Amino acid sequence: MDQMDSYFFSEALLPQGWQSNVRLEINNGVIQQVQTEVEPHAQDQRMGVVIAAMPNCHSHVFQRAMAGQAEYRSAAQDDFWSWRRHMYELANRITLDDIYNIAKATYEEMFKAGYACVCEFHYIHRALDNASDYWSMSDAILQAAADVGIGLTLLPVLYSYAGLGNQPLLPEQQRFGLSVNEYLQLLDKLNSQMRPGQRLGVCFHSIRAVSGPQMHQVLAEVASGTPIHIHIAEQQAEVNQALDFYNKRPVDWLLSEFSIDHNWCLVHATHVNAYEQERLVESGAIAGLCPITEANLGDGIFPLKSYLEFGGRFAIGSDSHVEINPAAELKMLEYSQRLHHQQRNVACDQNYNHVGSFLWQQANAGGVTSSGLPYAGIQAGECAALVVLDSEVNSQNSGEVLLDRWIFSDQVKHHRLL
Ligand SMILES: [Zn+2]
Repeated sequence: MDQMDSYFFSEALLPQGWQSNVRLEINNGVIQQVQTEVEPHAQDQRMGVVIAAMPNCHSHVFQRAMAGQAEYRSAAQDDFWSWRRHMYELANRITLDDIYNIAKATYEEMFKAGYACVCEFHYIHRALDNASDYWSMSDAILQAAADVGIGLTLLPVLYSYAGLGNQPLLPEQQRFGLSVNEYLQLLDKLNSQMRPGQRLGVCFHSIRAVSGPQMHQVLAEVASGTPIHIHIAEQQAEVNQALDFYNKRPVDWLLSEFSIDHNWCLVHATHVNAYEQERLVESGAIAGLCPITEANLGDGIFPLKSYLEFGGRFAIGSDSHVEINPAAELKMLEYSQRLHHQQRNVACDQNYNHVGSFLWQQANAGGVTSSGLPYAGIQAGECAALVVLDSEVNSQNSGEVLLDRWIFSDQVKHHRLL
């Protein structure tokens, strides 16, 4: 197994930007050396344009089993909350075998689609036939990711209440429910189950499902540097409830109550005003955006344009997996801004005036931080997770045009190299 593989690319998107004539040496899946502006060696495998695969910052893997199956009217006015009833029906049918099989198939799809690793926001804790077993479902997910060979940050979810003010769980939420003590025991147990390429994080379902004192209790036990994820401000209803209960908007409350830093990933953060955006950016936390799912669920539009002007960091996730395609997530993200602002080419800056390169680089950097895994792009010491963009014969496209075309047009194909 201890074999050095070498590759030569006409162009590569490295953390510092596009480079030409790039040689990579890779041993056991880890990048050993990156050289730019060099000649190929005789033994190199020669290829065109390569980019680093994308970390997937947010997944509920079981929801792949209902992708595209809630696209019919089931309420006077369908919304997130009527979709959630379909999702709960599915969640209460999933067996231990099901979760392994769905996770294995879905993680394979993610790998092929260009995802490097995945943060699994896992809350179907209790086995269907034995409610006192709240760890085997997690273990099945760990095994599935290991069998596929995709990096995994497992985020077991603390989920205790149906709503703000410690409302008791609904019957259909019983499988998700854990006390803080059970949760800490679960973390302890899972800590010893991690396979190579896996990381254990901490996760609060939402400020609806977990109370402030519970979060403080868990955070007191968490080692520094642990990834911490939470759903926040996905729905206007959640904002209204937080204003009623805490007299603060959700992100404002979270930032006031906890020392939020770069280890935190605030998933969705859709409904954030300018004051919250500015403080969120100062905290260093990552906004975990899931553009296709947010569009599918009618959540609202994340204010990416102003958030970027504040210097905000973000990652992307495929969340409900109605579609699994990092390029399509970025296209949706950019198009939502174009439609809202009636502008073109919103997500770019002086370093990257091509939208595809800007979005890919930003989402990659934010995604790596949110995962806590060593997938920080094409550089020595990081895991090799590489996507080759397949250029047509005789194409004169530079790497940055090819990446734009992959994201915005359906003419460019890709394949996973590693
Ligand atoms: Zn989610």
